[in-house]
Amino acid sequence: MAERGVMKASPDVLHFIDGAARPSLGGETFLTFDPSKGTTHGVVAFGQAEDVDLAVSAAWRAYDGGHWRNLAPRERARRLRRIADLIRERLDSIAERETRDCGKPLRDARADVAAAASLIDYFATVPENVRGTVYAEEVGHFAYSRREPYGVVGAIAPWNFPFLNAVWKTIAALAVGNSVVLKMAEQSPVTSTLYAELCAEAGVPQGVLNVVHGDGPTTGAALACHPGVPKITFTGSTEVGKLILHYCADAVKSCHLELGGKTPNIVFADADLNQALAGSLFTSFFNSGQICTSGSRLLVQEGIAEEFLSALLDRVRGMRVGNPFEETTHLGPLISAEQLERVNGYIEDGIKSGARVLHGGRRPTEPELADGYYLQPTVFDEITSDMKLGQEEIFGPVLSVLKFASDAEALSLANSVTYGLAATVWTRDLQRAMTAAERLEAGIIWTNAPHHMQWNIPYEGHKDSGLGEDLGLESIATFTRLKVNYMNFGGGALDWA
Ligand code: ADP
Repeated sequence: MAERGVMKASPDVLHFIDGAARPSLGGETFLTFDPSKGTTHGVVAFGQAEDVDLAVSAAWRAYDGGHWRNLAPRERARRLRRIADLIRERLDSIAERETRDCGKPLRDARADVAAAASLIDYFATVPENVRGTVYAEEVGHFAYSRREPYGVVGAIAPWNFPFLNAVWKTIAALAVGNSVVLKMAEQSPVTSTLYAELCAEAGVPQGVLNVVHGDGPTTGAALACHPGVPKITFTGSTEVGKLILHYCADAVKSCHLELGGKTPNIVFADADLNQALAGSLFTSFFNSGQICTSGSRLLVQEGIAEEFLSALLDRVRGMRVGNPFEETTHLGPLISAEQLERVNGYIEDGIKSGARVLHGGRRPTEPELADGYYLQPTVFDEITSDMKLGQEEIFGPVLSVLKFASDAEALSLANSVTYGLAATVWTRDLQRAMTAAERLEAGIIWTNAPHHMQWNIPYEGHKDSGLGEDLGLESIATFTRLKVNYMNFGGGALDWA
């Protein structure tokens, strides 16, 4: 956040701590930018360690008071459903602020906000589905386990789906009775405070959900290292995820990580090519490629490669980069000047390493886009798997095309990265599809269905892409800990000494 600076000013975007919107205790603020114009559009409270501390104390007071965790499960569920209803009522205004803050096309922002509401609908079924286990025991004994909330969960979120991420990072933990302190990404803070306000309006008690804004090294690290936070859930880069894991190791904290990816999108020659084409376009460029599961590597089989690539390039040429408030825009700006520079760095490195630009690789030339962080959708071929373009997560609209001859080569290329988040396979052959799913090193396999998600279906990242399960009933285990009780109801004293 260096170029954004830290200053004392009256913030427009406040923390939400202990049931109220608040500035930082010391008055620190930073600026948030409209990526479509490159200008600031808000002053945001910048949380320091003391603000994080205030939020963690409020979260524990709320937890210890039991006003949320001790609610009857059906009542907690009812209030969660109310949050979802309030989100749907305010969908347009949340989506507009989201687009202003992060630059994503308004129609996508609307879909994200609707998805956030449906995510909460799903998690409203969870409070009544938390279960324990009874174990085989000796006569006169009874043993059971139950899942208990951690107490306070620290959640750290990225900027690519700001409102949806704010909900996603918090709702499972809340559903099972925890209090939460959320540190939203500094690039897109605006709608997370709105979310906390809606939760309060829906009856989530004071102190149960807190939002502290700020950067990673100051605010995020203060939360991750806080001795009063026994569980961290983090979504972001693998680089920062490793740091978080170090912080958690020092305090023996439980840590859930959803990290980067380099998703292979594998098109076999027997695929339904129209379906594969539409899906490949979507998985490569949706949200300007700023998704950890973006299909940023297109692996296409040699016999169809030429025809498929030529059709893909036709469609890429038809995609519109532009003002995110216009309904016809496919790609808005990238999130920040830093991100644009980072992605441009990958493009330059690709060119230097001998990859060939088939499309894009530059900023658009329309004068009205000159000040925003726009980039043309970019397609490279003549990539080798060892190039940065073939290995590293770019998080931008940059697609790397690799060709393969056999199934074995496709799977070996697909698995040749350190990441293991998702993989997409296009084929009409059941045996090929099932074999690929078995051999691909990834937690999510999409067979003819990229980015398909259902909230009741869990997943986890493999390899450098994460630790622990998310979504579905599996998330109950992620956000609770186990307690067992051994009971002797048959009487009889120990005969030891
Ligand atoms: P991205 O590459 O998507 O920006 P990052 O991993 O940099 O992802 O950031 C994801 C989240 O992690 C953001 O909320 C960011 O502020 C936070 N973060 C970054 N560095 C740290 C850190 N050292 N400690 C805790 N949180 C951090």
